Amino acid sequence: MRGLMQQTPLTIDSIFRYVERHHGDKTIVTNSPTGPVRTTYAEWAVRTRKLGGVLDTLGISADGRVGTFAWNSARHLELYFAVPSTGRVLHTLNIRLFPEQLTYIANHAEDEAVFVDRTVLPLLWPLIDTMTTVRHVVVMDDGGDNEIPDDPRVSLYEDLIAAAEPIDFRVEDENTAASMCYTSGTTGNPKGVLYSHRSTVLHTMAVVQPNVFGMAETDVVMPVVPMFHANAWGLAQAGPAVGAAMVFPGPMMQPKALADLIVDEGVTFTAGVPTIWQGVLPELEGREHVLRDIGCGGSAVPKALSEAYRERVGLPILQAWGMTETHPVATSARLPRRLFDGSDDDKASYRARAGIPFMGVEVRIVEAGTTDELPWDDVATGELQVRGSTTALDYYKPDAGVELATSDGWMKTGDVAAIDPTGSVRIADRTKDLIKSGGEWISSVDLENAIMSHPKVKEAAVIGIPDPKWDERPLACVVVADGQELTADEVIEHITPMVAKWWLPSAVEFIDEVPKTSVGKFSKKDLRTRFADYRA
Ligand code: ADP
Repeated sequence: MRGLMQQTPLTIDSIFRYVERHHGDKTIVTNSPTGPVRTTYAEWAVRTRKLGGVLDTLGISADGRVGTFAWNSARHLELYFAVPSTGRVLHTLNIRLFPEQLTYIANHAEDEAVFVDRTVLPLLWPLIDTMTTVRHVVVMDDGGDNEIPDDPRVSLYEDLIAAAEPIDFRVEDENTAASMCYTSGTTGNPKGVLYSHRSTVLHTMAVVQPNVFGMAETDVVMPVVPMFHANAWGLAQAGPAVGAAMVFPGPMMQPKALADLIVDEGVTFTAGVPTIWQGVLPELEGREHVLRDIGCGGSAVPKALSEAYRERVGLPILQAWGMTETHPVATSARLPRRLFDGSDDDKASYRARAGIPFMGVEVRIVEAGTTDELPWDDVATGELQVRGSTTALDYYKPDAGVELATSDGWMKTGDVAAIDPTGSVRIADRTKDLIKSGGEWISSVDLENAIMSHPKVKEAAVIGIPDPKWDERPLACVVVADGQELTADEVIEHITPMVAKWWLPSAVEFIDEVPKTSVGKFSKKDLRTRFADYRA
């Protein structure tokens, strides 16, 4: 027997109509070099409908890919809704990628247009002739005086909006592609993940749950995680979907500017990678704010960082785990009730985990290269695999030999994890970052956590270096906090009680800064190159 309920498709235009109808008075703030620029959802909605008209006028094909090369802003939010709500596919290009990668990605996706912020135009324009399918470059003036090229492909966003008619949005099939993100490609070519309307709506409904980010109309949401990185972790859909006010940093990504926005705009929820919060900490300390959660993920959140926020800013960090391939949020580590009376250390240890998946996502760990499940005893470690309606089935036009799914329909994550009896995931490492010493694995993440709990350490990244006897041994690359002095012996002495003796790094190198990837994560690939010939 079939149920007797209506079949309204789960589409992004339904989120759009909801916020347009019910929350028109709520504000959207975008920061700029000349200060915050304010608008409302009502004004945004009219402009978004006009942008739909612009896409028609430009002649973008029915399922054409529309690139964006932009900071987090109200205009970018117009694109986030107008492009998929007309049946086209939003393709967010990461402004920090190398030129060759940008060319590869735009050509692979066959972008027909790119909407670019004026402040980053000099990064894109020199590549435009290598992007063979791009017919239109639409410049969004977010300040500055970068020259706008005199070229038939170029037009100005505001001119197009002014001349456009608002249109109706209606996507009928919820499985239509809505947006695509490429993973930064630490190995091989970047890989495209293609989200559907349905997966986007389901992910939106998941992340607003109290167990995850817990968002409401009363919130002021500031996505620091770029809208060009893994769908801004779903925040650009989740905020509007509950009628929350939005705050966008624009190009003003400096720690002080972010802290000022949090304080001045009354931000209640924000999210970004750990390196962002590391920088913002001293700027936020001692100031009055109304933050209730700081979401963080993308790489392991050091226990010491979360505790520093709890002690110095008044709230710990809320860790989440995911990847571009999981939309990207899949688990979150909100403190469970059973730990409310626990010690500060027990609570901090829980928050240092990736946490449990939300309803709709399943997790398992398996013996490498098999489908044999390992026990949930928090001891056994194996490859983390996930499945669910917000999990990618496959990559977009994958290279030969690249396989995302297992033979029994789960998605491989490339992460190594343990799972406790409640299903809470603890990420041990990325497979490629594990250090193999004497046939046994050492977790670089655990070592980094231990080292970063030293008060004089600012950052630490641990990589494997070749060793004639043990295959590989850990090398700790440590950045000393400003104005402090530290020796290798002090580092080793500090972590000796925390890890097995054979895990202790064979060498400690002091460096000025840990190199970062295009999305602000520690780039171990760069460290491995730098220390390729290093011998302990
Ligand atoms: P990239 O490969 O460009 O980093 P993603 O942003 O999709 O692409 O990164 C996903 C990866 O980030 C995960 O597979 C995992 O290794 C890491 N990651 C994300 N969240 C966490 C977390 N909370 N703890 C540890 N690692 C994390």
